[in-house]
Amino acid sequence: MDKADSISTARQNLSDYLRLNSLRNTQERNLLLDAIYSTDTAVSAEELSRQMSKESRTRISRATVYNNLKLFEDAGLVRKVFLDDRVLFERTDRSKGVIRLVCGSCGKTTEMNNDKVRRQIMEMRTRRFNSTSWVLTVYGMCSKCASDLRKKQSKLNKIHKDKK
Ligand SMILES: [Zn+2]
Repeated sequence: MDKADSISTARQNLSDYLRLNSLRNTQERNLLLDAIYSTDTAVSAEELSRQMSKESRTRISRATVYNNLKLFEDAGLVRKVFLDDRVLFERTDRSKGVIRLVCGSCGKTTEMNNDKVRRQIMEMRTRRFNSTSWVLTVYGMCSKCASDLRKKQSKLNKIHKDKK
């Protein structure tokens, strides 16, 4: 599932939850949800509040952010992470971690599953560090770019041959 998909799934889940509980679906709520679902790390309410104020140019109070985070938590969309004395929030669909494949040529990003890799990361011991989630990025070339490159190369080879 790519980022756009996971944001739209989260939005759908939020709107279902709000409807079930007779709550209003506000622009603010959706923006906050988008902000959390666009980031791959756990973030604090302060950071979210700052980011939202910057992006939407409207002042969103920390209290509003906290209230909505509580609501997202109840809706199962967000989870609290305790790091030392800080409380952070992260999207719940990140629980198992992500293996991301990035094409270095066109930038296309896809995600994949590999249970063996997942298990190894879960079993990995981190010294003096409490890991909460992970993202593994694998760089390479997508099949479309690889085939484009092959076509380009064979065209160049043909031109080269014709010249002889
Ligand atoms: Zn590509």
